[in-house]
This record gives sequence, structure tokens and C-alpha cells, in this order.
Amino acid sequence: MRNSQKSKIEKLGVAMIVSGPSGTGKSTVCNELKKLVPELGFSISCTTRTLRSGEENGREYYFISKDEFNAKIANNMFIEWAEVHGHFYGTLRSEVIDKVLEGEDVLLDIDVQGAMQIKKYAESDEILAKCLELVFIGPPSFEELELRLRTRATETEDAILLRLKNAKSELELWQEYGYLIINNELDKAVEEMKAVLDVMHKSAKRLTQSGFFV
Ligand code: ADP
Ligand code: 5GP
Repeated sequence: MRNSQKSKIEKLGVAMIVSGPSGTGKSTVCNELKKLVPELGFSISCTTRTLRSGEENGREYYFISKDEFNAKIANNMFIEWAEVHGHFYGTLRSEVIDKVLEGEDVLLDIDVQGAMQIKKYAESDEILAKCLELVFIGPPSFEELELRLRTRATETEDAILLRLKNAKSELELWQEYGYLIINNELDKAVEEMKAVLDVMHKSAKRLTQSGFFV
């Protein structure tokens, strides 16, 4: 091939959904992956829950009121939204579609209801159909999940019990996902996530027509 025949490879970014029960280690694994892949972006969701200590508005979430959340639903700004553990959470179209169109890879840490909505949405959305993948992060055991939630100590006892109750039904949905990663040893789970991302980078369907040299 002569150099003059080469054209710039044009490709969509990857949209990688990461779900799993609260306390399974999604944020920890995603943050470690970001250290390995600094250019990786996060979809920042909107939520009506209050900030935990150490969180910052616009970094972990956009923390908004229920009225603001309803206005975003009315203006069709979410590609999915759901009530999770008693609070509302939603994924902004601009955080995902706009970014993958720019070629940016985006991680979405969202619950199983949201993941199923986006999976369905992707069936009729040409862009998402090409760049979406779903990864389920499971705990090594239910006992370990409870221990992690209690050790994190960010929720009240009632909130912990609700998250553990919801975990049972969330765990049943793992077969809806493209990949299952058990977060036992953190390093190994991060390595496995990186391997999934690497495989997705090889996916030909993310390339546009002019993405090859023909
Ligand atoms: P999630 O985002 O799924 O709710 P977090 O990332 O907040 O979960 O992790 C819950 C707790 O478990 C945190 O205290 C975190 O430090 C701890 N944790 C995460 N991964 C592991 C692991 N592989 N082994 C032990 N503890 C872990
Ligand atoms: P937390 O309050 O612990 O940050 O998150 C609680 C749950 O909400 C987690 O399972 C997380 O994945 C989920 N979540 C966060 N953002 C979104 C979102 O935009 N949509 C949905 N459906 N779930 C979300």
C-alpha cells in the first residue's frame, strides 16, 4: 500500500456499561482502570441523592433536585433513568452519544434497570448499536458484598439493608450482559476489564466507512 492511499482511521468511541450490586466494587475497579487508561472518560449521571463526604458536584454526579430531574425527563435529555435504592438516577444523552461521536471511550456505572433500558435503546440507535458493551461486575460472595458495604460505611443501616435486598434481584440479571467479571482480587478484576476494553477497541463495527484505507 502506498502512503498516499492511507487515510485517517475514523472510529466511534466505546460505550462500556458497568453494572453490579452496590458495594461490589464498580467505582473502585473503574477508577483503577482509569489509572491504566487515562484517556478513558466517565459518563457523569444526574442523581437526586445527596452528596457523600468526599464527593464533588460534577465529578461523581450532577447532584440535582427532583424538580430539575423531572425537567430533564420532560426535555428528553436522558437516554435512560431509573429509581435506584430510593433515589433517581439518569444518564444524559450528551454524556454518552456526544462523546462516542467524538471518538472518546466512556464508562457508564449504572444499575441493571438502566443497563437494560440502554440495551433496548441501542436496538434502534445506529450509533449505540455499534459501540455499546455491557459488563457485569459480581462480588465473590454475598457475605463479602455485605462486608464491603459495611466497611465502606457510607450508608445508614436502613440503606445498607435496602441495597442488600436489591442485590438479590440485580444478581439474577448477569446473563443479560456481554461479560462477567468477579471482583475478588482487585488487580485481577481491573486487568480483566482492561482486556474487555482492548477487545472492544478491535471491533470493526465501530469504524466508519472511511475508517479503513479503501
Ligand atoms: P460500588 O461502586 O460497586 O458500590 P465501591 O467501589 O464503592 O462499590 O466498593 C465498595 C467497597 O469495597 C469499598 O470500600 C472498596 O474499597 C471495597 N472494594 C472494592 N473492590 C474490592 C476488592 N477487590 N477487595 C476488597 N475490597 C474491595
Ligand atoms: P450510588 O448511590 O452508590 O453512587 O449508586 C447507586 C446505584 O445507582 C449504583 O448501582 C449505580 O450503578 C447506579 N447508578 C448511577 N448512575 C446511574 C444512572 O445514571 N442510571 C441508573 N439507572 N443507575 C445509575
